[in-house]
Amino acid sequence: MQDIERKDKTYVWHPFTQMQDWVENKQLVIAAGDGIKLIDIDGKAYYDGVSSLWLNVHGHRKAAIDQAIIDQLGKIAHTTMLGLANIPAAELAEQLVKIAPPGLTRVFYSDSGSTAVEIAVKMAYQYWQLKGQTQKKKFITLTNAYHGDTVGSVSVGGIDLFHRIFAPLLFETVHAPSPSCFHCTLGDSPAACGFACVVAVEKLLADHHGEIAAMVVEPLVQGAAGMLVQPPGYLRRVRELTQRYGVLLIVDEVATGFGRTGRMFACEHEGVSPDLMTMAKGITGGYLPLAATLTTDEIYNAFLGPVEAQKTFFHGHSYTGNPLACAAALANLRIFRDEQVIENLGPKIEAARRKLAAFWQLAAVADIRQCGLMIGIELMQDKATKQPYPPAWRMGHRVCMKTREYGLIIRPLGDVVVFMPPLASTVEEIEEMLDIIYRAIAEVTNC
Ligand code: PMP
Repeated sequence: MQDIERKDKTYVWHPFTQMQDWVENKQLVIAAGDGIKLIDIDGKAYYDGVSSLWLNVHGHRKAAIDQAIIDQLGKIAHTTMLGLANIPAAELAEQLVKIAPPGLTRVFYSDSGSTAVEIAVKMAYQYWQLKGQTQKKKFITLTNAYHGDTVGSVSVGGIDLFHRIFAPLLFETVHAPSPSCFHCTLGDSPAACGFACVVAVEKLLADHHGEIAAMVVEPLVQGAAGMLVQPPGYLRRVRELTQRYGVLLIVDEVATGFGRTGRMFACEHEGVSPDLMTMAKGITGGYLPLAATLTTDEIYNAFLGPVEAQKTFFHGHSYTGNPLACAAALANLRIFRDEQVIENLGPKIEAARRKLAAFWQLAAVADIRQCGLMIGIELMQDKATKQPYPPAWRMGHRVCMKTREYGLIIRPLGDVVVFMPPLASTVEEIEEMLDIIYRAIAEVTNC
């Protein structure tokens, strides 16, 4: 075992990892990145097929982002935003407001997707308190939602495996069904069920009338639940309902933002402007920890008043609005503009769609879900009866270990094989990565 792997196994506790399994097995140590590839300490290169957990956008060591960080380092790495402003944070806020859905005019920074959600939840709650509607305390969340790992963001989450154990620590929410047609028991398409998942939301709004502060949704795709793509029209309908019932809509664009779905933000596909929107991950091109919660004049103005009125939003982290991260984010947005990243996504998304069509031939492939370059391939033991594999077989995991042998790093969600390459991947690279995934599924599942 190389010395660095020994140090890791001796001292580091990895996130979302069964450490006994980790310590007992050979692990990959990444030493460098180059474009859309990761390079291990032995010099072997791998495609970064899940964008280093859904965040890398333009590849690693992108010259313009490297340079922006270096330039900012020559000025200052960090200073607080409590009582002080800084140049990159102010510049970035203006840029974010320009690209966000209309009506989102204020930017509150934090450091991770979880904190951005935590902030949105607290802001929504305090907003109604300040407006004198103190009975509006509840949140509608989706089953199988994932919004991060801090206690507030876990409270609005709904993935049993991750969240169940913490139940006594969480605040209760009102659960709406996950709008996932493949797993739905109400019908297999909105045409067949009359959008039963939307009807359920309306019933909850009516049943809890006057008590709901906000509804929280991942737009278009419930990512961590297994890339569950929502039927078109769901988000728009939910938006209409929240407006009709006087409830705020929090849209969590942490995973979907910055081009992943084919538009800058997933909301754009549905023409939706939420009351609060979270962003993180791709905001710095996948370089540095930074997040933002955007909101409207209406919400921001409710917090204005003389100091003694105590309408202040009492929330902030030490590294909030970090200048290095904001400089990276500004460079990220410049690349989006200069290289027409969104405009060039069409052929890449189409190439993936074409390749994925062949995956249906594999007996183990029960569902293929794609939204832009967010892709989930669900494996099942018997797709006709939707019988899953026994969890102990760890089929998703085994497929991902197999792709590594062929030079591709991906990470599954249970038995959903996730493919979410950097937006900078070329058509040929996307095709090559999908060929590897096809081969790995075929070999591991013997079909
Ligand atoms: N919201 C969504 C929709 C996410 O997918 C994630 C992370 N995968 C988070 C929030 C949490 O982000 P972070 O890991 O940066 O805290």
